Amino acid sequence: MRQRAANRRRRTGRGETFGPSPLERARERVGTPLDVLQRRQIPVRRRMAVCPLHEDRTPSLSLFRGRDGNDRWKCHGCDAGGDALDLEAALRGVDVKEVLRDFA
Ligand SMILES: [Zn+2]
Repeated sequence: MRQRAANRRRRTGRGETFGPSPLERARERVGTPLDVLQRRQIPVRRRMAVCPLHEDRTPSLSLFRGRDGNDRWKCHGCDAGGDALDLEAALRGVDVKEVLRDFA
C-alpha cells in the first residue's frame, strides 16, 4: 500500500515526497539567518546583530524561531525581516529568485 502511494506521487513528479525541491535545496545550502550573518563575519550576540541593511549603531537585528519552526530575523531599526533566503537576498541587493538560482 505504502509503496503504491509512493509510486503515484513519483509519477506526478511533484511534491516533497522524493528528493528535495530546488527551494528546499537552496534553503539547506543557505542555512539559517545566523549562518548567513556568520558567513559575512557579522557578529551575533544573544541572537542580536548590528543590522547591515541600515546605519545601525546598536544591534537592532534579532534572530528568532518563527511559528512555522523556521529560523527568521527581524530588524527593529529598519523593519526589514524574513527568513534566511530573504536575508541573503537583502545583503546581496538582489531578489530571492536570484538567491534560489545561485544556491539551487
Ligand atoms: Zn535594519
